[in-house]
Amino acid sequence: MLLLDGKIVRDSRVSELKRQIRALGFTPRLAIIQIGTSGRSHAYVKAKQKFAETVGVEVELVTFSGDISPVEIHADIERLNADPSINGIIMQLPTPRGIDHRPLVEAIAPAKDVDGLTAYNLKLLLENNRSGFVPATARGIISLLDFYSVPLEGKRVVIVGRSLLVGKPTALSFLNRNATVTICHSFTRDLGAITKEAEILVIAVGIKRLIGKEHVSKGQIVVDVGINLEDGEHLAEEIAAPKLVGDVDFDAVQGIVSAVSPVPGGVGPMTVLSLFENVLEAAGRQSRASH
Ligand code: NAD
Repeated sequence: MLLLDGKIVRDSRVSELKRQIRALGFTPRLAIIQIGTSGRSHAYVKAKQKFAETVGVEVELVTFSGDISPVEIHADIERLNADPSINGIIMQLPTPRGIDHRPLVEAIAPAKDVDGLTAYNLKLLLENNRSGFVPATARGIISLLDFYSVPLEGKRVVIVGRSLLVGKPTALSFLNRNATVTICHSFTRDLGAITKEAEILVIAVGIKRLIGKEHVSKGQIVVDVGINLEDGEHLAEEIAAPKLVGDVDFDAVQGIVSAVSPVPGGVGPMTVLSLFENVLEAAGRQSRASH
């Protein structure tokens, strides 16, 4: 069985990404807006900061306490939109309960929306128009499969999960590569009957070991997007290095499927890589537009 190793892909791209960033002739800057102090989103922000340093991007971290009023966050987004030294802006998700992230994300200037989550960029994805930004996880999943030379055209792809952050943009990305796509979700009946029919199966739900041997069939390529804490969400802030598991029961499926992405070390590193590929694109476009 082949392991779809996102760390290998990411590491193989680092020197080229660094070279392309250096070739811009200036240091691109990414603003990360973080609201609240959930241990989990903190870990994701740290991973992005570390990778930014590796590839030569400067990060401006803008933090707000969880009880901030959206008006104040809006004011900061406006400031970042207007600042020509900022090339990309992302809002770390999820935001704390009670803060609706959609209007905040929507306030980000589309040219700086390197997470590709504004309506403007989602519409371009819908149109298969490459001038937008593809959400990082969707871009990362496609890059991971491309690296391992998995053909996509004409393939039967099943995506489990329909969020605006992962499931839907991933489904559109496969559709844009001429795959035949089915989307499953929490109302899907007889999940296993549908997932078994897939040639490529992508799981983005957030339920540990949701997918077992009864959901897979021989020869499938399985991409596990889920990130779950083995010991329960409430421990996230107390444990320094919590054990992460995916949505796929790795041990149960590994004798059946032909390839699977591990958690951690599969889609996670690809998401970070893809975000910085988007930052490079944003910086390049803005610099060309200003000359
Ligand atoms: P979400 O909660 O917004 O969406 C979950 C989706 O799963 C929903 O569309 C829901 O309909 C579906 N679902 C729920 N229960 C189901 C069931 N029993 N059967 C079938 N479908 C079901 O979550 P999200 O933001 O899309 O994230 C999904 C997972 O991916 C989470 O574990 C998250 O941590 C992880 N994630 C990983 C990365 C990465 O880089 N690896 C990036 C983003 C999210």
